[in-house]
Amino acid sequence: MSLNAQTPLPGGGYGDAMATFYPLPLASEFMGNPSTIYPAALVEDGKVTLVDTGFPGQLELIRAELTKLGLSLDQIKRIILTHQDIDHIGNLPALVQATGARVYAHAADVPYIEGQLPPLKFNPAAWESRLANLPPEARASMQSMLSKPPSAHVDELLEDGQHLPFAGATVIATPGHTPGHISLLLDSGTLIAGDALVVEGGQLLGPREQATPDMKSGRASVAKLAGFEKIERVLCYHGGLFGPGAHQRLQVIAQQS
Ligand SMILES: [Zn+2]
Repeated sequence: MSLNAQTPLPGGGYGDAMATFYPLPLASEFMGNPSTIYPAALVEDGKVTLVDTGFPGQLELIRAELTKLGLSLDQIKRIILTHQDIDHIGNLPALVQATGARVYAHAADVPYIEGQLPPLKFNPAAWESRLANLPPEARASMQSMLSKPPSAHVDELLEDGQHLPFAGATVIATPGHTPGHISLLLDSGTLIAGDALVVEGGQLLGPREQATPDMKSGRASVAKLAGFEKIERVLCYHGGLFGPGAHQRLQVIAQQS
């Protein structure tokens, strides 16, 4: 489902009085695969909470998307990470340095985000076979990224069921894709699902098996999400917006898996 199929609020966002929600589509290419990924901005009182930070090197794309909305990078006061993967933490250090934003994540992913442990999926061992197929220049650049993945201090821990005192959002722990994966349910009925769900060909689907090391937990997380009747729309990091009617679709997916 394209963003244009949605009905935006005045100003182009989706949301309620508390915070206005804007998907920030970033055109990306990683390992030769083009795709669009969807960080999000939650805006209230001129303060931006950014949810996820894109692939390394996309800081200017984030800045450009904010500019289109009449916002600037220095309005980012908080960064929430749905999880530790490279396409979510890619610009975290650069953004923290540029904005001084506070960083929020679930405890189970913190050691990977802070660099105490190598990211579960983005480390030299996991990439060894794929690196062999790359042209020398691309291989060198990937090796250097793998040897020193982006990292930053996490200021605040997110817990399942916590209603945040900003952005009108409730944290839902949705492990599977990573141990500390979280989703955010906005008071407006939009779910920011990270990679707990995907949209492919306009359809909302469960997590991608090849990117989800713990599918048992991943399926349990889908079943958990299906229990939230107020979910009307879902933003998937991969695939964008789905809805309205997301709750019914979630129940179907939960029954199928
Ligand atoms: Zn991921």
